[in-house]
Amino acid sequence: MLDLHLLDTGHCLVSAPHVMRGVPRRPMICRSLVALIGHPQQGWTLFDTGYAPRMVEATRRLPWWLYRLATPLRIRPEQAAVRQLARYSLVLSDIQRVIISHVHADHVAGLRDFPDVPVIVSSEALTSIAGKHGLAALGRAHIPSLLPADLDRRAVPLPTFIGPPLPHLGPTHDLFGDGSLLLMHLPGHARGQIGALAQTKRGPVLLAADGAWTNQAIREQRLPARITHLFVDDVRAVGATLAALRNFSLARPDVRIIPTHCPEVDISAR
Ligand SMILES: [Zn+2]
Repeated sequence: MLDLHLLDTGHCLVSAPHVMRGVPRRPMICRSLVALIGHPQQGWTLFDTGYAPRMVEATRRLPWWLYRLATPLRIRPEQAAVRQLARYSLVLSDIQRVIISHVHADHVAGLRDFPDVPVIVSSEALTSIAGKHGLAALGRAHIPSLLPADLDRRAVPLPTFIGPPLPHLGPTHDLFGDGSLLLMHLPGHARGQIGALAQTKRGPVLLAADGAWTNQAIREQRLPARITHLFVDDVRAVGATLAALRNFSLARPDVRIIPTHCPEVDISAR
């Protein structure tokens, strides 16, 4: 059984119909949540690294400034994941590994605060940004300066997922070999995106990354607006993953689903 803490690393402002087609136009706060996962033998794992102040620095100039124009940032330095460890009586050296769901800037901006630890990320995600700079990188919501220079060396290759399949989400990879943390593919939003099913002390939790942006989108099957296709890897797969998450939620109503940016998620509930 795992401990799980959700940290809010800052947010950007978006228009609700951009996140969910057909909802009334209103500004929406889009937090970037990360999960701190404690395993009794394997120690602490960070799932995504969220925003960090260097995101503001990195988006001061073109073309990255366009990223900030599209999603105005509200990031306080003390919200960086590394600065929040002390709240859980943890220090940097307690973090044994980082899982990166996908390499979009709002999920990796804090990664350089965790030097030397192994990084669990799909090779498809790394390949998709290899050698990309400028507008080609921006089109993948990728800001090269956010990534550590030694990422390729620290990246832990993931095997083909052949672990116990989850309803509608397909085969998994049992990260610790004890069923406590199962990784699964969540294709569409970004190349090689992965999520994780965690067996926590408060019940099972699905860290859904950007497989869906909100729980409302899952319930009501609301796709993101077409303008988001600019950053999306595979539009058709976005819809398939959104449907799979809904069907999973119906098959496994016991699982709490945590999309990274969902405003409904209560981060005080463990
Ligand atoms: Zn995101």
